[in-house]
Amino acid sequence: MKRQKREWEVKLIEEFPFLKQSEDGEDGTIYQKYGFECAEGWYELLRDCCRKIMDCYSEAGAEIDFVPVQIKEKWGTLRFYYGYADAPCGLAAFDFIGSGVSIRFEPGLKGTLEDEKARLRHNISQIIKEAEAMSSHTCEYCGKEGTLRRDLPWVRTLCDDCYKKASALVENGRKKATWRWLESGLKLYKDELYDLAYHQFKKAEELATTKEGDAGDNGYLGVALGHIFLIAKDYTCAYKYFMQSAETGNIAGIYMVAEMYKTGKGVEKDLKKYKSIIKTLAREVSFHSGDWETEDCGFYPKVDWYIEDKVFLAKICSAYGELLEEEGRLKDAREEYNLAAELMNEYHNLYG
Ligand SMILES: [Zn+2]
Repeated sequence: MKRQKREWEVKLIEEFPFLKQSEDGEDGTIYQKYGFECAEGWYELLRDCCRKIMDCYSEAGAEIDFVPVQIKEKWGTLRFYYGYADAPCGLAAFDFIGSGVSIRFEPGLKGTLEDEKARLRHNISQIIKEAEAMSSHTCEYCGKEGTLRRDLPWVRTLCDDCYKKASALVENGRKKATWRWLESGLKLYKDELYDLAYHQFKKAEELATTKEGDAGDNGYLGVALGHIFLIAKDYTCAYKYFMQSAETGNIAGIYMVAEMYKTGKGVEKDLKKYKSIIKTLAREVSFHSGDWETEDCGFYPKVDWYIEDKVFLAKICSAYGELLEEEGRLKDAREEYNLAAELMNEYHNLYG
């Protein structure tokens, strides 16, 4: 099926007859079938190039026999492959992945041509080379001054603004993918399919980063993977993951580290540390439980999972209640137990 031509393509085709494409998209060169395989930022650059080619023909008083074979972006720069009516060029170039080296076949420059025609074709090959070179510092999206960007999932020549926008899109996609793996892992975890859950969490881990403002990914992941290792009774690894989560400030992660100190799993038993962490967390809970519902979750789904925060808030209240009870502060302890019950109620109401 033929793709809808973009506005800038239509303008170019109208201005330069040799850019005519096949009607049905079935016959002709790759260009004639598929059109321009690049973005509109190179419009002016292509227009300038085509204008110069036209000028060459009118100066030489020759009939236009230039045939575009393929016009595309490859590894961030323009590739303009072409031939002539009497020198068709099916395979215009070899591009080597990695090195970015491109070997070109110059069409129609064989020695038998008369001088005039040879000169014309030599000039055209220069014009094409210039346009391709220009593309390496022209933003493919908007046409502003750009540089080759190699740290996106695709190599592109982009200006600073378009690069920032592209990076944000990539980052957003990465986050969404991370959370999809986490979510599907959690479903499997709840079904006690721990091996499968583990693989989903590891997929999420590959995508997660510790970049600033991104603590959420690693916070939740640490808790998820820590639980898998708890079940596998690999307490050293479980502790490592809970610590990773705790270091991002994730409350569930911090609570699980406290639990490890209490039970002496994966770390030397230390009740003093356990109590101190629980008391600190309890202060956090009174802060967090108030504005929980209004917290901006962005695109993060409210995940129905065992390691959902509210459950941990309840656990913290309950653990703190026990500490207060030990100290003989029965009334305060009862308040904490009540709060824990309330949180669990909210959790069940929300998630069934
Ligand atoms: Zn741009």
